[in-house]
Amino acid sequence: MSIATNYAHLHARITKAAKEASRDPETITLIAVSKFQPQTAVLEAYAAGQRAFGENYVQEAESKFASLRASHPSIQLHCIGALQTNKVAQAIRLFDVIATLDRPKLAHALATEMTKQQRWPDVFIEINSGDEPQKAGIAPTDLPAFITLCQQLHLPIKGLMCVPPAKYDPTPYFNQLTKLADAHQLAIRSMGMSNDFTTAIHCGSTQVRIGTALFGARQRAIQS
Ligand SMILES: *Cc1c(COP(=O)(O)O)cnc(C)c1O
Repeated sequence: MSIATNYAHLHARITKAAKEASRDPETITLIAVSKFQPQTAVLEAYAAGQRAFGENYVQEAESKFASLRASHPSIQLHCIGALQTNKVAQAIRLFDVIATLDRPKLAHALATEMTKQQRWPDVFIEINSGDEPQKAGIAPTDLPAFITLCQQLHLPIKGLMCVPPAKYDPTPYFNQLTKLADAHQLAIRSMGMSNDFTTAIHCGSTQVRIGTALFGARQRAIQS
């Protein structure tokens, strides 16, 4: 199936899920996750109407999008992968959204570098929904204190993001993220991927991050 066909199907499914949940489909943004996809795939999605893209690795994002962004200024680029502090300067130059703020050290590094560059991409806090020891993110119980830190650092926190534990029904985790976002008056809830985005929409997602259902299989296995 072509990317344009997948794009149309995805929008139909987003609209259907939104209507089932009595929500306005316009309040849900599709983020096209283009990691391990070639620039030609990005351009195909762009031609179909896609504008927001997500990348996991700063280096890959830079090589794929740096020149594209100059020629296609309406592209919006989201960092959705773990961000190392030594990549923060490059990330703030490149991305419009940093969706993976997951630790105090990174909060400090982002604040310092944003001030230095005078550039403030939107920031989402990544929640470790299942409190999984091997996974990045802020534990739900630590969120209030972490938000206070982010406020002290004047970080532009706009939302929450999560990748729930793979082996369980994601519904309770998605509902938890919506509750946390509401409690802290954060408008954006980035949750839902190819396999579970309709569930995420039912639970209040405002940004679904979709790779394989749009682009097909990735060209390499995911590195960690
Ligand atoms: C790769 C990735 C996605 C997209 O996954 P698909 O299952 O291909 O839709 C979404 N979010 C994050 C954080 C990812 O790493």
